[in-house]
Amino acid sequence: MKVLICGAGIAGLTLAWWLRRGGAEVTVVERAAGPRSDGYMIDFFGSGYDVAERMGILGTLREIAADIDELVYADPRGRRAGGLRYASARAVLGGRVLSLMRGGLETVIRASLDPGVEIRYGTSITEIRDVPDGVEAELTDGTVFRADLLAGADGIHSVVRRLAFGPEDRYLSALGYHTASYLIRDAGLAEQVGRRAILVGVPDRQAGVYPTRDGALAAFLVHACPATALPADPRTEIASRYRDMGELTDRLLAHCPEDPYYDCVAQIRMPGWSRGRTVLLGDAAHAVSLMAGQGASMAMGGAYTLAVELLGADTGAALERYERRMRPFVLAKQESGRTSAEWMVPHQAWRIALRNRLFGLADLPGGTALMGRAFRNLSSSVIPAA
Ligand SMILES: Cc1cc2nc3c(=O)[nH]c(=O)nc-3n(C[C@H](O)[C@H](O)[C@H](O)COP(=O)(O)OP(=O)(O)OC[C@H]3O[C@@H](n4cnc5c(N)ncnc54)[C@H](O)[C@@H]3O)c2cc1C
Repeated sequence: MKVLICGAGIAGLTLAWWLRRGGAEVTVVERAAGPRSDGYMIDFFGSGYDVAERMGILGTLREIAADIDELVYADPRGRRAGGLRYASARAVLGGRVLSLMRGGLETVIRASLDPGVEIRYGTSITEIRDVPDGVEAELTDGTVFRADLLAGADGIHSVVRRLAFGPEDRYLSALGYHTASYLIRDAGLAEQVGRRAILVGVPDRQAGVYPTRDGALAAFLVHACPATALPADPRTEIASRYRDMGELTDRLLAHCPEDPYYDCVAQIRMPGWSRGRTVLLGDAAHAVSLMAGQGASMAMGGAYTLAVELLGADTGAALERYERRMRPFVLAKQESGRTSAEWMVPHQAWRIALRNRLFGLADLPGGTALMGRAFRNLSSSVIPAA
C-alpha cells in the first residue's frame, strides 16, 4: 500500500510509524521548512501514552518530560489561591502521565521512524483528485503524487479537509477563547517559578507559565474572545489583553516574540472523516481543543487505530471501522472540552474562587479517590488492552 500523509505533526508521524512498520510505502509532506521543535506544554496520558508505550518510546519521553511538582493557581498579586500537587494527579492516573513540550513529543516520534519513511519539508498539497482505486495529489513543488490513500494530518486548519470536504467554517466550532504560547529564557524568572506550573487567573483571562526540562519556560495565555478572526498583530493584541495581570504576567509579556503561536480555541466536528481514498485524522478530523487537554493523545490514538485497520482489511472497510472505533471517544472528549472551558478560564470571579478551592480538595484524604473517578473518565483510552 502506498500512502501519502499531509502533515508531519503528532498524528502524521504516528501514522507513518505504524504504517511503515506494517510494510506500507509512506511519504509525508510537511508545509514547514523543517522539523518544528517549539510549542507549548501538554499533559500526556490516556490513548497517546498507551500508543507511545507500544512504540517503545516511553523511556525517551520520560527523559525529556518536565519535572513539575505542583500546579498553582495565583491571583494577580502573586498570592496562592489554590492548586494541586502533580503527585496526586499522577497517582490517580497510575503514574501513566507525562508533561511534555509538543515539539519534544514530535521530535521523539520522528527520531524513532523507520528511515524508509520519506518526509518532504516545505511541501504541501494544492489539489486532490479521485482516480480508480486511489487518489492523486498535486503538490506545491509542481509534481503529482499518486497514492492508494491520502491521509490529512495537517491540523485544525487542514488544507486536505478544505480540498476534499469543503470550507473550514462548515466544521470549525469556536469555543469563545483565543490562546497564545511561546518559549522564553529568563534565568531569574525560572528560579522564581521553580518546579511549579503557575496560572494567574482573572475573569475571562488566564496567564500561565510552565518550567521545561532544559530550564526554559513555556508561557501559555488564554482569554475569552468570541471572534474566530485572528488579530493582524498577535503580539500587540496579547500586550493589551494581559496588561494588568500582575508582575509575573508582565515578565511573560516582556518576552513575547514577534510571532508567538496564536489561534482561536476551537473544535472540529464533522459527520464523516473519509471521502473516497482521502481520510482525516488528528486535529484535522476531530480537534477536541486545549480545554479537553487531550488532542495530542487523541491524535496518536487515532493514528494507531487507523493504521491497525488499514493493515488488516480492505481500505473501504478499514476507514469505516476506524471511524466507528474512534467516534465515541472523540465525542466524549469534545463534550468534556466544552464543559471544562468555563472552569479553566471562567467568566466570573466566583467560579474562579470555587475552582481553586475544589482543586485543593484533591490533596486532602479522600480527595484523590474523588479526583480519580473524574480523571479515569477523562483518561479513557481508545487503545484496547494488550
Ligand atoms: C495551548 C495548547 C495546549 C494544549 N494542551 C494539550 C494537552 O495538555 N494535552 C494534549 O493531549 N493535547 C493538548 N493540545 C492539543 C494538541 O497539541 C493537538 O491536539 C495536537 O498537536 C494535534 O496533533 P496533529 O498532528 O493532529 O496536528 P498538529 O500538531 O497541528 O500538526 C499538524 C502538522 O501539519 C502541518 N501542516 C499544516 N498545514 C499543512 C499543509 N497545508 N500542508 C502540509 N503540512 C501542513 C503543520 O505544520 C504540522 O506539522 C494543546 C493545544 C494547544 C494549542
